[in-house]
Amino acid sequence: MVAKQEDVSLGFLEKKIKSGRIVIPVNKKRTLEKPTAIGEGLKIKINTNIGTSTEKNGIKDEIEKLKAAIALGTDTVMDLSVGENIKKTREKIIKECSVPLGTVPIYEAAIEVEERKGSFEKMAFDDIWNVLKKQAEEGVDFFTIHSGILKKSIQTIKHKRRVGGIVSRGGAILTRWMYVNKKENPLYENFDKILELAKKYHITISLGDALRPGAIADSTDELQLNELYVLGKLIKKCRKAGVQAMVEGPGHIRLDEIGFNVMLEKKICSNAPFYILGPLPTDFATGYDHITSAIGGSIAGLWGADFLCVVTPAEHLRLPTLKDIEEGVIASRIAAHSVDVLRFKREWNKDRKLSIYRAKRNWHKVFPLTVNKIKAEKKRKTSQTSLDMCSMCGKFCSLKISESCNILKNI
Ligand code: SF4
Repeated sequence: MVAKQEDVSLGFLEKKIKSGRIVIPVNKKRTLEKPTAIGEGLKIKINTNIGTSTEKNGIKDEIEKLKAAIALGTDTVMDLSVGENIKKTREKIIKECSVPLGTVPIYEAAIEVEERKGSFEKMAFDDIWNVLKKQAEEGVDFFTIHSGILKKSIQTIKHKRRVGGIVSRGGAILTRWMYVNKKENPLYENFDKILELAKKYHITISLGDALRPGAIADSTDELQLNELYVLGKLIKKCRKAGVQAMVEGPGHIRLDEIGFNVMLEKKICSNAPFYILGPLPTDFATGYDHITSAIGGSIAGLWGADFLCVVTPAEHLRLPTLKDIEEGVIASRIAAHSVDVLRFKREWNKDRKLSIYRAKRNWHKVFPLTVNKIKAEKKRKTSQTSLDMCSMCGKFCSLKISESCNILKNI
């Protein structure tokens, strides 16, 4: 199915999967209606994060967001729930999710320990292990595992005093745990055991970037790079163990360092698929971070990023609403497609076809080729002019004038 979707040969896919440059996240317990492949030589994929929070806990709302994100073309979904009834929420999400589903298991472990022992600081590896086993059995397709942050990073974190601190939720939990317990990261120490489980269930590991910069002032700093080197070593372990793996990346990156960050990830992590969380090239667009991330994401894609995480206009402000999710997904799809038109002739031709229909003001043929047919149709309906022009230029429609000069291309 994936080879057909991507218009590549099975041999191509097999070779790239074996070399670790492409992953197909799917738990052996699940049959996906819409499987997807992520990595080199493929279209750029996008992921949408949904999930309850400790402050807002509507399972129904999250299911609506899930359905909307899939309908608008997200390739994968991550359930980042930390609200009540986390298991029940995930069960419902898995049931409705036709695309690969990812989680960050340390969240559930922290919540469960917090409820049982009073504080996540009392978490033991067994608590994490039980959650991993449970989620594997339920059918989660990919796990974000923050194994790259090490005890020795704590000193650097304290010494460096970053502008944006630690913005990864998993990273912050593990940092606090290591700080209080003065022990090594349990996800690092038990990485081999986690890989055994991943192999058994065909779960893809998404190596989390616990120390991704949370402000452009921290872009490409020592903490981020130290962690990346650890992730590079862990990728090799994943491959040796026969486990599919990808690498997560920042976050907030200066515009002029985005390309460098992609190249660095590819080099240090042996060309593993790069899952970039945005990136946001400026911090000043609060309320519009879906646009900021589309700018960052398209540049990252141009340099070889494989997988973009949707950022919504609610980023840094609140749990996204349904509308926030819709806007975020569309922005990420635009970013991904802007790169895909350069990577693939067939994508280029889609744009070309749309442009030809648009020049002829053939709206009905334009709409199905756009990123959001419904929105385009709605706006057109409010254009109060005749059929072959719009309210923008009216009778001075330059396309109509071009047509009268017989200079337009035909399909
Ligand atoms: S009226 Fe102007 S904006 Fe509208 S279709 Fe014609 S050229 Fe394009």
